[in-house]
Amino acid sequence: PFRIAIVGRPNVGKSTLFNTLSKTRKALVERSPGVTRDRVYAQAEIADRKVTLIDTGGLLPGDEDQFAREIFAQAKKALKEADLILFVVDGQAGITPVDEELASFLHKLEKPVIVLVNKLDGPRLDQVLSDFYALGFDEVVGISAKHKRNLDELEEVMAKYLPEETEEEDLEEEIVKLAVLGRPNVGKSSLVNRLLGEERMIVSDVPGTTRDSVDTLLELPDGRKYLLIDTAGIRRRPRIKERVEKFSVDKALEALRRADIALMVLTAEEGITDQDQKILSQIDKNHKGCLIVVNKWDLLDGKREEANVLMQQIRYGARFVPWAPILTVSAKTGRRVKEILPIVDEIYKQYSTRVPTWTVNKALEEITQDHSIYASTGKRIKFYYGTQVETRPPTFVVFTNYPDEIPKSFERYLKNRLREKLGFDKSPVKVIFREKR
Ligand code: GDP
Repeated sequence: PFRIAIVGRPNVGKSTLFNTLSKTRKALVERSPGVTRDRVYAQAEIADRKVTLIDTGGLLPGDEDQFAREIFAQAKKALKEADLILFVVDGQAGITPVDEELASFLHKLEKPVIVLVNKLDGPRLDQVLSDFYALGFDEVVGISAKHKRNLDELEEVMAKYLPEETEEEDLEEEIVKLAVLGRPNVGKSSLVNRLLGEERMIVSDVPGTTRDSVDTLLELPDGRKYLLIDTAGIRRRPRIKERVEKFSVDKALEALRRADIALMVLTAEEGITDQDQKILSQIDKNHKGCLIVVNKWDLLDGKREEANVLMQQIRYGARFVPWAPILTVSAKTGRRVKEILPIVDEIYKQYSTRVPTWTVNKALEEITQDHSIYASTGKRIKFYYGTQVETRPPTFVVFTNYPDEIPKSFERYLKNRLREKLGFDKSPVKVIFREKR
């Protein structure tokens, strides 16, 4: 879940805040400054979303004491894991040198930070609020943790940084939908049956969307679930082969449309063909995740040179889907077939990721700052800001002055750089340009 770390020097009221937000008594509220302890975690619900709260303990960065240094090291770790940081300061004491030191440390982490000016118990104290913008963070909220004052506003500000996750999304997240694609005879059937035979899986048939289509649901002992879409043609194929199967692009596209991730099966015999590239371009167009599985790799045993050449050919042929990992397997011997689902999990995780707006904008700024592209009017195309509006696929809206004049090449460049900077090395991203009004 989303992690929110609470940080601040000793005695500013972190634990009181932690308790108020988590409504538990897990944290010790009464304690002397600097007393060491493990980080305290609590599950909490903020703006209807489940989050993990982490109390990092009292921080004294300059303290050379061995004890203090250990606490600081612990807290640093918690902060590095956090998605959002609540930096608590004391509104009655004002900004202290320790606060300043902490602020400069937090700036270096490049994470979203909300400055919480605590202990604003009386109305008079509101006047000090603006002083705390001097710490250099955009979000400054005044509260009284003890008197539960202004917590609604705090929740509102925090909500801006939380991922939007509905229950529906939670449920759907449990089943990864896979389409197994590839020309006849590449070994789709052998591969799927080998996959179904692995580990202790529960395999069940689920009616597909059309009359004679069947999907296959796989359940692993640990509860992970995968739906193999339209597997009627590839499961339990009769021994007697009448190889008149016609490759139907339409059928492949229909399966792809319903899937999150495509398992694109190639072989060590033919490598990547024009037909395969057509399917890959559809995967790209539809922003689906993809794992390229090169089957029959056993045929290249002991042929290192040939294997290298083939791999290069495949990489080149698949250059339009640079996010798709390539896995060499043998359905015949079973080699590396076990690695398919773990890689699928990784792809799916990225495919379902939501990046905070703050991070998107920072990446966008870095990517576009030293790129001058111009509209037909001769004016410079500007990119103002962006935000992630959707997962599966991760979809970003980018606001610009000329949404209709972004060159395709630049769009491709932007997508690749966004993937690189935002952690989507195995997932496609979708970018929509909108005019800033
Ligand atoms: P599909 O049409 O894509 O479902 O392909 P099949 O699973 O029916 O396999 C086509 C042929 O390739 C069969 O003769 C399989 O025995 C063979 N085959 C499948 N996987 C492998 C493999 O990993 N290595 C080798 N050498 N042959 C394979």
